[in-house]
Amino acid sequence: MKRTNCSACGYNDLRLILDLGLSPIADNYTKDDESVTHYPLQLAVCAGCHLVQLLEVVPDLFGSGYSFYSSASAPLSAYHTRYASDVLNEWHLRDGGLARKPFVVEIGVNDGDFSRHLTQAGWRVLGVDPALGPAEVAGMRGIETIVKPFGRNLAHEIHAQHGPADVIVANHVLAHVESVSDVFAGVDELLTHDGVVYVEVQYLPDMLLNNAIDLVYHEHRNFFSLTSLRSAARNHGLYVVDAQLTDRQGGSLRVKLRRKSEALRAVSSISNSEAWLADTNVYLGLQGRAERLRERLLRLLMVERAAGRVVAGYGAPAKGNTLLSYCGIDCRQLPYTVDKSPLKVGLFTPGTHIPVLPVSALAERRPDYVLILAWNFADEIMRQQAQHQTYGGRFILPIPQPTVV
Ligand SMILES: [Zn+2]
Repeated sequence: MKRTNCSACGYNDLRLILDLGLSPIADNYTKDDESVTHYPLQLAVCAGCHLVQLLEVVPDLFGSGYSFYSSASAPLSAYHTRYASDVLNEWHLRDGGLARKPFVVEIGVNDGDFSRHLTQAGWRVLGVDPALGPAEVAGMRGIETIVKPFGRNLAHEIHAQHGPADVIVANHVLAHVESVSDVFAGVDELLTHDGVVYVEVQYLPDMLLNNAIDLVYHEHRNFFSLTSLRSAARNHGLYVVDAQLTDRQGGSLRVKLRRKSEALRAVSSISNSEAWLADTNVYLGLQGRAERLRERLLRLLMVERAAGRVVAGYGAPAKGNTLLSYCGIDCRQLPYTVDKSPLKVGLFTPGTHIPVLPVSALAERRPDYVLILAWNFADEIMRQQAQHQTYGGRFILPIPQPTVV
């Protein structure tokens, strides 16, 4: 289904800024070389609120087939531990430490990797997530979870059954929703008068400056700046009272929202740094940069292959599939990729049919180069390989431009 109205403000002036052609659903790793459906992958910016969003809305992406488990990624899990500790400390400091333990709703709870820290501290947590597999794991961890997408209707039901929420958490979930407006309407419905909302999203300016076109895939429907996020929340009477940039997923933005506006320096300094995004012309170079990236990567792989050298992949992240699919790279150029997640090992990348092997395959097969598809963890991957001396070759980073390091 092609979107014609903005996901956040409803305005009907969406301008195409990037067309990556047809691509399969990035998280649909296949059991063999079975064929998969391809959908248009086009990015547009709203001329009204500047929210960048996908034009194609593929339905039912986060149901039973959704295979992303937060706990499977050690760096992400460590990140959640630090983040949850910040949230716990903040609450503890409230009212001189006398504040009662809050009722928390986590939207997009996934397998409970973040909220388990809150339940361990005695907080009452209700999870919401349409992805059945991860939600079952959250349940096993003692986090009651409603297996549905969050929106105004569900918020109403939760409010009636459990009462209002003191804290609402939505980490890396607003990117995935069909209607940003409906989610904020739900938050408005459910939040107590003096409640607080923690939201983290991937940060659009980092994506643009880093040329990270592979972050565009069908599961990522919305891309936020502080400006567009503030505007979407404000439409429902919610105000950003704190904002910080973090290093998750190649650059993220964490904000705190409340019902009352407070002018804080952290908010205005990030906000001022985004003035350039107000001009829709800034997006026009994206297509050309994507095409140059594709050309360089294909040339690099072709030269190495012609010289008889083998390039393998590292990681089987969703974003890797945008890159592989857009560049038309299959098992001829990249005979295999490796991944730490046992859930992905033994499967194939969707549409491009590249087998996913365990990380130990690098030591056994010793390829000449490793193309790091999970480039946001590149430093850690290269450090680990150097420490254990399991792989003696060189690395290729695909983003912002293909480079051998
Ligand atoms: Zn808009």
